[in-house]
Amino acid sequence: MDQRKMAGIFAAECGAITEALRWIIGQNRVGTYLVCTDSFSAITALGKRKTKCRWKDEINILHNQAECNGTEIIYMWVKSHVGIAGNEKADEEAKQSLNDRNIWDRSVDFKEFRTVIKKRAVWRWNAEWSGKVGNKLREVKNSVLPYRDVFVGSRKEDVILTRLRIGHTLLTHQYLLEKDSAPRCTRCNLALTVKHILAECPEFEEQRRRAGVPSNVREALADDRDMAKNVLKFLKATDMYGKV
Ligand SMILES: [Zn+2]
Repeated sequence: MDQRKMAGIFAAECGAITEALRWIIGQNRVGTYLVCTDSFSAITALGKRKTKCRWKDEINILHNQAECNGTEIIYMWVKSHVGIAGNEKADEEAKQSLNDRNIWDRSVDFKEFRTVIKKRAVWRWNAEWSGKVGNKLREVKNSVLPYRDVFVGSRKEDVILTRLRIGHTLLTHQYLLEKDSAPRCTRCNLALTVKHILAECPEFEEQRRRAGVPSNVREALADDRDMAKNVLKFLKATDMYGKV
């Protein structure tokens, strides 16, 4: 779906809420009203304090106007297309309105586009990331989305974890600076890589087990603060902490 269409849908969903509020105000009957919407993005935007959106401003003005008259309005998200009678009827009426010549015409604000474009850019980046053949970094992380369970350690610990995740450490890549040949594991005679050290080399099996580091580099360097602590413990036990 293109950005224009997505921004338009958000505008239409918010527009529907403003129309519902106008209808409530027009009733001139004090009471409690329930506004149901199947738009998750609209209901999320209403709930966020910091969201700057002209639709939210307009909805707030109408909401306050209704409340000043003593009316209470509750908003509820309902899942779409699951057979909820009212929702199906609303969808049906929305389809019929496509033939209406007095169709509602309203421009889409650039801020609405900005949100959609940001999301779209991440999707595209992620698709590119996932589709690339031979992407070594994907062995560690399969999406471009930021880590959530971020380990907050000292600057040195943060640097160590980042270097392990990108696979470039002093231990494995110092040879480039010294114009030397790539190092090999003295026990296995295989290329010395972060993956080999952290997950494969039998030399460190015992330290790996004691520190609780799995034999899988993606799990070992996962979005998991406890695992990050285990990895740092492993590096100290193998005397590699200062060589990363
Ligand atoms: Zn080895």
